[in-house]
Amino acid sequence: MRDYLRQASCNTLESAVMSKMNVALPADFYIPFLSLAAKDRKPSPIRSLLPLEATPGIISLLAGKPNAATFPFTSLSFTVRSPIDPSRDVPVDLSQDELAEGLQYCETAGVPQLRNWLTGLQENIHGRQQGEGWRLSVGSGSQDLIYKAVTAMINPGDPILVESPVYAGVIPMFQSLHCDQIEVETDSHGILASSLRTILESWPANKPKPRVLYTVPYGCNPTGMTATLERRKEVLQLAREHNFIILEDDPYYYLYFGDAPRYPSYFSLELEEPEVGRVLRFDSLSKILSAGVRIGFASGPEPLLDAMDRHTSTSNLQASSLTQVIAFALLDSWGYGGFKAHTNNVASFYRKKRDVFERVLKMHLSDLAEWDSPEAGLFFWFKLRLGVSDHEEGDSERVIRTHAFEKGVIALPGTVFLPNGRKTAYVRASFSVVDEEDAEEAVKRLRDAILDARVK
Ligand code: PMP
Repeated sequence: MRDYLRQASCNTLESAVMSKMNVALPADFYIPFLSLAAKDRKPSPIRSLLPLEATPGIISLLAGKPNAATFPFTSLSFTVRSPIDPSRDVPVDLSQDELAEGLQYCETAGVPQLRNWLTGLQENIHGRQQGEGWRLSVGSGSQDLIYKAVTAMINPGDPILVESPVYAGVIPMFQSLHCDQIEVETDSHGILASSLRTILESWPANKPKPRVLYTVPYGCNPTGMTATLERRKEVLQLAREHNFIILEDDPYYYLYFGDAPRYPSYFSLELEEPEVGRVLRFDSLSKILSAGVRIGFASGPEPLLDAMDRHTSTSNLQASSLTQVIAFALLDSWGYGGFKAHTNNVASFYRKKRDVFERVLKMHLSDLAEWDSPEAGLFFWFKLRLGVSDHEEGDSERVIRTHAFEKGVIALPGTVFLPNGRKTAYVRASFSVVDEEDAEEAVKRLRDAILDARVK
């Protein structure tokens, strides 16, 4: 099964793994990347000893674990749709040991079996061999891990490179840290490496340089755009030249439905670099298994993961053991081949949704909006033609919040995705849950709203 997936991965990646010309950056390289808060955070005395409980023959008087004999759950079984034959439901039973593990506290980085499975997945998909300077931690969704990574690396007032427009869920994070969000332009090929280069090359000599870049490379939220291979390579090269870490937030990686061959992730592409360890990658099970399981995983340099784990051990202690055990039982029953089949099914599902939405957009909005077709993810990002003069941007917020709502449709005005909150004529529309009839009705209502709002 693993060979089957390996064949599916990119040839460039294969050759990088085979030639292995690179070295992992040493642990002390990351010291200047850690925030004061991360440096001050001490490991939890109990949690750092917890892994020792697995030592054969050890009697543990360590943790204040509740006694499982008092828990009322006695068994847990569920059925899942077969990825090979979606008309068939397959039963998955948790063994008594698995259930016991799911009902108890687990290690801060996550349930070991799930971590091992996901580590194998990263090896298969991204070509990253275990034990070569990286590891993985599970979190309560990728949002949890992104927050912990950002607070582990950013001090109040620090500059942070942020692609723009950017996922609205990180803007308040950066704002609450009072950091200086440096917007890097994007276009229909993803992050604009030339804009990044200009920012970095003209950076004032008396100001500390940014140490972190945040980007969503596949089916970006909100623009739906996917960064091309050239862009990715140039960004990686800039990371090396200007010494920053890339936060690769990639929850839409498996929702790629484009016709072109898949681009390798930053996490795999960095294997072609002379030094490896500038990418901290975030994956999420939200879009492929369920958003409610709240499982995400971060993969990257150990010192950064250690800093994030220290945060976890003083905040939520760990992600839910129970959902981790459930996710592991399901993933293990599928194997990597089944996972691949399932994620392909999910991607085809969204491709059809994308096609339907685009058809109704073309039918009802082609004279009033412009857009690029997304090749991944869940979003259309379109610019409204509001009849304003060429040098004005237009303001979609007024159209959406007032006119569209009155007509009975809501979407997100683009301003919420701009770190500086400026006015924009863009709108984000999510095509993930609407059926064809509702998609058409929604777009017709949007049309009426735009006509109402247009400068007459
Ligand atoms: N990053 C991006 C770009 C997202 O769109 C989302 C979810 N909307 C997240 C992170 C958070 O996902 P999770 O459910 O894994 O916390």
